[in-house]
Parts: sequence; C-alpha cells; structure tokens
Amino acid sequence: MAKKDGNTAKELKEKLFNKKKNAYLRMNDAEIKEMDKFCEGYKQFLGTAKTEREAVSFMEKEAEKSGFVPFEKGKTYNAGDKVYYVNREKAIILAVIGTEPIENGVNIVAAHIDSPRLDMKQNPLFEKDEIGYFDTHYYGGIKKYQWVTVPLSLHGVIVKADGSKITVNIGEDENDPIFCVSDLLPHLASAQMKRPATEVVKGEDLNIIVGSRPFKDDEASEAVKLNLMMILNEKYGITESDFLSAELEAVPAFGVRDLGFDRSLVGGYGQDDRVCAYPEFMAILGAKTPRRTAVCVLTDKEEIGSDGNTGLNSAYMKYFIADLGAMQGVKCRDVLSKSKCLSADVNAAFDPTYPDVFEKNNASVLNGGVCVTKYTGSRGKSGTSDASAEFVGEIRSLLDKNGVIWQTGELGKVDNGGGGTVAMYVANLNVDTIDVGVPVMSMHAPFEITAKADIWAAFRAFEAFIND
Ligand code: MN
Ligand code: MN
Repeated sequence: MAKKDGNTAKELKEKLFNKKKNAYLRMNDAEIKEMDKFCEGYKQFLGTAKTEREAVSFMEKEAEKSGFVPFEKGKTYNAGDKVYYVNREKAIILAVIGTEPIENGVNIVAAHIDSPRLDMKQNPLFEKDEIGYFDTHYYGGIKKYQWVTVPLSLHGVIVKADGSKITVNIGEDENDPIFCVSDLLPHLASAQMKRPATEVVKGEDLNIIVGSRPFKDDEASEAVKLNLMMILNEKYGITESDFLSAELEAVPAFGVRDLGFDRSLVGGYGQDDRVCAYPEFMAILGAKTPRRTAVCVLTDKEEIGSDGNTGLNSAYMKYFIADLGAMQGVKCRDVLSKSKCLSADVNAAFDPTYPDVFEKNNASVLNGGVCVTKYTGSRGKSGTSDASAEFVGEIRSLLDKNGVIWQTGELGKVDNGGGGTVAMYVANLNVDTIDVGVPVMSMHAPFEITAKADIWAAFRAFEAFIND
C-alpha cells in the first residue's frame, strides 16, 4: 500500500478532502430533540403568518412579550435594550443594543416575509356565464400551472372611502369557505397540453371562483355578482369601489405538515423565506446583551425585486440605522461601513428527480445544514453581492467555532438560470454581506419542502452571529 509520511490514502483523504456529512450523523439525541421542538414553533408560525402583514403582526406581538418596545427616535438606549420599528405593517426591524459603541458597526440579519401568491386586481369582481370570479395578477415568480385546483384563502386589507380599514382573513378556519382556480379536464385538454408549460395556464386564466348563486330576480343581469356584493356588504360593509383601495392576496388554504414517515421534513406554503425569517426572529428574541448591536430586518417585496418603500432596496433600514447612530452621535455611513450582514434567504435544495439542472459538487442538499452562499446572481454573477474571501472566512470560522452544521450551495448550474436575494441591497450600503439560508425543494410552489435539521442549523447560525 502506498503511503506518505506513514499515512494511507484513506487517512490522507480524511485529512485533506472537504467532507460532506448528513446532519443526522452529526447531531446527538438531545440536539435532535431540541431541533424537533424548535420546528414545532416554526410550523405554528408558518401556518399562522401567510402574508407579510400577518408575519409582522405575529412578530410584533411576540417581540412585545419578550420585552421589545417601539423605537423612539431621539431617545437614548443602553446595552441590552430591545426595540422594534414597524414599516407600514409590512416590514419590521428589531434591534438589541450592544455593549460596544455603535461606531464599531452592527450585526444585521435580514430575511423577507413576502412570498409568491395571487394578488387581486383593483377591479377584481366579475361575473362570467353566471359564475362569480376575482381577477388576479400573480406576485413573484411562479409556475402558473401549479396554482390551479389548489384550495385558496384570502388575506389582506380593504381601505374604505372613509379611510377605515378592514382586515380580511377568510379560508383558514375549517368552517370558512375557500376559493379556487379551475383547470380543464384531461378529456378536453389535448390542445392545452400541447402549449409550452409557460402557457398551459396563462396569467389571465388565473381567475378565482368566488361564487355561483344568483340574486333572486329574473330581470337583473349580473345577479351572481350582485348577490356576492350583498354578502360582502353585509360582512365587511364595503361596496365594489372599496376594492380599488384594497390589498387582497390569495394563498394556499392548507396547513403546515410534517412530511415523510420519519417526520424529517416540513411541507407548507411560503417557506421562501419565512423558513429563514423565523429562525432569525427567534435568534434576536433570545439575544443576551450582545457585544455588537444586533439588528434583525424582516422585509417585504423581495419576490418582486425589493423595490418600493417596504422593500430592502428602499431607505427604511438605512434610516433606522441612522437613527441608532445619531443616538451616540455617529454618522450612518460610519456605522454601515463597519457593519456585517447575514442575508438570510433560501437556496435551491438538490432534487434527485431533476439532477440535470444542478452541479452536484456545488449544490445544497436537504439535511446538509444551513447553506452559506458566497454569491448568487445569473449570467456570470450578474445581480449579486459576491462576498469577499475574508468575510466568508470569518463566517466560516464563526460557524465552526459554534458547532453549526453548514454547507455551501449555488443555485443551479452556471447559465441554467439563477436568482437574487436582498444581499446586494445591503452590501451596496458598504456592509460586509453574505447569503446564509435554508435549502428548499419545490421553491415558489404552493407547497414547499424543507428539512428540520437545516431549519435548526439556520437558527444556530443566526444565534451565533448575533451573540458573537
Ligand atoms: Mn427568497
Ligand atoms: Mn423567492
């Protein structure tokens, strides 16, 4: 047997090669128990908070219970103080003041709480051949054919002419009615099935069935629509023009479930990116007085490009950090320039049924731990923040020091597509930023799959970063 310095090839490989190992082979029973407990909390959150507004409202309540108070600009806070700021009910920032001066920079964790879905148009209600519909405009990158024949619930707000606001949540309680987009029966779908998948179901075909019972009057036209408006008027006190100033989102009405005989996976809607938002949120809730001020941002609009005043491409996080800095007489730019950020977003988990789109050596896998991604983007790293080797090195040693199970992963083969996250918007503020998140299978589908071991590892990573 060939040897080098007394080592066999097996021993040398052990020493020199990068080894990948399933998380379950690296956790002891006590840790697996903790993981399961943590994921029960996650499932609860995921089933309750299906929209950005609902996530903010959940987090605001939980944060208050944990001693967070609304941030007041101009007030001085001391080490250990916990504050939060809500942006237009759709994004929330939480911070725990650290012992070090803010001029040393802050540790930011950022995730998004919006998910792909069907949004109602401004004039949604129409009747066609005596069936009542809501017209939709889909939100985010979806495979449209996946959203037909799926039970849907309606969430959001309606602002009435007098300025009052109604919160809508219908289809989640088992006694509520639900809604649905129809699809063609296979017997009559031969022409439809020949269309390319992008056109099997077209954007304008995503009409949600909302009723079929006409108002009892032989003379009236649009009797189904009239009956529906009467029901809505009775329930919410609205007229049709109130839809003009509403945000109504249709999301899958089903709940969150353990997936698999061994219950190792979580199946549910909206895991991109609430599977990162929840661990990040729990990490800041549990923060002891950190050395560096910890800032947790849960943002909106990532799925449509992060623009708008609740997206992370807007200035709201920068303004918040400016206000934190001003408290100690430090300029915003000086705080940001020394800050660090874990941009917590999901990555594509390797799917053994569709191996061709992945480059296996650089793909994340279910049960591989939290995924650290140096760069995202597409077509030659376009549209990304490419973290420096130095910062990757720093995060790598932090995770190892804290026994966090982690892996690396790129979103698919080069030139096979790609994607972006909020990382570049934070990095553009001169913050050291890297993507760290949970691998997801069937991303952007109405029902997404994650692994409990990876969710737990994400929490451990954010916890280590915040308390570093
Ligand atoms: Mn995402
Ligand atoms: Mn996404």
